[in-house]
Amino acid sequence: MQYSPFDGGGSGSKLPDTRTTIFTVMSQLAIEHKAINLGQGFPDYAMSQELIALVNQAMIQGHNQYAHTYGLRLLRDQLAAKAKKLYGANINPETQITLTPGGTYAVYTALTSMLQAGDEVIVFEPAYDSYIPNIIVNFAKPVLIQMTFPGYSIPWDEVHRKITSRTKAIIINSPHNPTGAVLKDDDIEQLKLIVRNNKNIFIVSDEVYEHLIFDGMLHQSILRYPELLERSFVCFSFGKTYNCTGWKIGYCIASPGLMKEFRKVHQYNCFSTTSFVQFAFAEFMDNEDAYLSLGKFMQSKRDFFQKLMQGTKFNPIPSYGSYFQCYSYKNISVENDMDFAIRLTKEYGVTTVPVSSFYQSKKDDKVLRFCFAKKEETLKNAAERLLKI
Ligand code: GLN
Repeated sequence: MQYSPFDGGGSGSKLPDTRTTIFTVMSQLAIEHKAINLGQGFPDYAMSQELIALVNQAMIQGHNQYAHTYGLRLLRDQLAAKAKKLYGANINPETQITLTPGGTYAVYTALTSMLQAGDEVIVFEPAYDSYIPNIIVNFAKPVLIQMTFPGYSIPWDEVHRKITSRTKAIIINSPHNPTGAVLKDDDIEQLKLIVRNNKNIFIVSDEVYEHLIFDGMLHQSILRYPELLERSFVCFSFGKTYNCTGWKIGYCIASPGLMKEFRKVHQYNCFSTTSFVQFAFAEFMDNEDAYLSLGKFMQSKRDFFQKLMQGTKFNPIPSYGSYFQCYSYKNISVENDMDFAIRLTKEYGVTTVPVSSFYQSKKDDKVLRFCFAKKEETLKNAAERLLKI
């Protein structure tokens, strides 16, 4: 049968193997079956009313036209000051920061601005589901490396072995989605070694969960390390930091040279990011406590959920950050994780994300991802249902 690219398949498609993202699929299933949605990562509790008021105020004051293509300068100044304060980084807001419609968009733009056809990009699996299509749509090649199981650490020996003259980038993500793993000192040392020995390799660092880090661990931001930052695009999200994932606003920090290329792509994609929201954040960011208190807040949610889950047959896999906690269900079922996740939604009314969807090979370790960024009541109701299994 002949396909046209507009049938969503066939030789004309730029992404013939790409399906609807698992987050959309699982959220839709949750709605259909009126299940508690611990799948897609978003909070179900209220965000700051003060921040909402600031957005309203900015709209009423007339900040409703295009923002600067790089983002509101006042907000870039705030972000540069934050980067200095938290990570000791000297960031020039004029040349090194661009506001974007979300963190995912920042990652896409970073890859698109540097990849040439045939370039190789090292991706660690399980991998956030946008990375690989982002690489393929640019005619580049993902080089997949599986993290260890169940510790989810990076096998650096394999990374060294898989670097070739075509390796253009490495994507890192800490705190990690879907596993909640975080990078440590050793990982940073390995990265330094790699960029020192390979002058053509860049890093895309997805740090959207920078503040959602637990147990006193340090967020190993690339912004802490000038020799890495020089070669990196570092991507952030306001949605995760201010409990407003639907606002779709984020930003990228990079060295001036890389940012120049990033902006070439950005200005002809969305041109600029929603204006009134930027005015609101520029003011709200004076309140440092809003993000400094976030790790503790989310850790208490993780702990609360873990306690509730203790009575179930699910076995936890440690999570040190992000919105997520993975659980093994190998004591419950031999079904593959997609089938099991579907059954959990239909029969028990709890929706999760099967971790095989973060592997190209659909590697099935019998693990589900649960989002615990929810009200206590939501988590309690979900656990009650899961206790029946
Ligand atoms: N980052 C969110 C998650 O991992 C989902 C974002 C999206 O749906 N695109 O659940």
